[in-house]
Amino acid sequence: MAEIIDGNAIADEIKTEIIAETEKLKAKGLAPGIATLLVGEDFGSKMYRGQVEKNCALVGFNYIERTVPAETTEEQVIEIVKELNADPAVSGILPLRPYPEHISDSAVIRNIREDKDIDCFHPANMGRLLLGEPTLAPATPSACIELLDRVGVDFEGAEIVVVGHSNIVGKPVAMLALNRNATISVTHIFTSQAGNLAKHTTGADILIVAAGKAGLVTADLVKEGAVVIDVGINRVKVLDDEGNPVLNDKGKPKTKTVGDVDFDNVKDKAKAITPVPGGVGAVTNMMLLKNALTAAKMQAGM
Ligand code: NAD
Repeated sequence: MAEIIDGNAIADEIKTEIIAETEKLKAKGLAPGIATLLVGEDFGSKMYRGQVEKNCALVGFNYIERTVPAETTEEQVIEIVKELNADPAVSGILPLRPYPEHISDSAVIRNIREDKDIDCFHPANMGRLLLGEPTLAPATPSACIELLDRVGVDFEGAEIVVVGHSNIVGKPVAMLALNRNATISVTHIFTSQAGNLAKHTTGADILIVAAGKAGLVTADLVKEGAVVIDVGINRVKVLDDEGNPVLNDKGKPKTKTVGDVDFDNVKDKAKAITPVPGGVGAVTNMMLLKNALTAAKMQAGM
């Protein structure tokens, strides 16, 4: 049975480190702060915003909230970004997407100061990541690497297979691992459609899965003794032993959060595995704060 990698415990360790470093910075007159920027009323974005605010309070960061109505023009949103760029209380800017259709994500992101881009979506920061230069790295891919580091994985020469090639997770996590001298394969929907997914995943010492498809990675896709990092977050119906949906008090199907990996079966084959929830997600939140801390230091020339 695999070691279950406790993302919550690792997140707590990182939080303690961030608090200690924040106190040191404050003693030098430097207070890290995160600004969120929401356009409109997207429910998921508001949930995420609440979590960021709570996390800022936990580690002693300033929290700045900018929310504007959905009708705000792209030019007006960019003006706000420029104000936040110039605000010394803001170390990092977090654009809460999706934005309304008339606002281009990339127009907003390109206007964020590179050293305040704590999501690391600015093309300059993505470019630095590719070149292996020190930069702010995106939170979820960094969380995968941090988890692997904290369970003592040796990257050099390791066969790492990533499932998913999004700009947010798959591509940057592959680059971070490549920068650590792992051998990387990046697979995606077309790998699956060509019938080649198992060919790649069964060769992986470390398998990082970020596809957004519950149950995609079954035990037969995993090498005996692999380390499995499950980034996926999916809501699925809870089923009874006969496979029928279990209903809640209101007669609606009960749901639960699962990853992309068939955890119950893969855990018997893997050496170590992250659960969902309680794996990558918890650490991702801390990596965002860590980025804000790094950004504050960069801005102070430290
Ligand atoms: P995305 O939809 O942008 O990309 C999905 C990727 O998976 C694509 O590259 C696609 O080709 C690939 N894919 C889809 N179906 C596949 C299949 N059957 N076989 C092989 N590859 C397949 O998604 P994303 O933003 O990268 O997020 C991926 C998952 O990770 C989602 O479940 C998301 O909720 C989750 N996520 C978690 C965190 C976290 O902090 N834990 C952060 C971001 C995203």
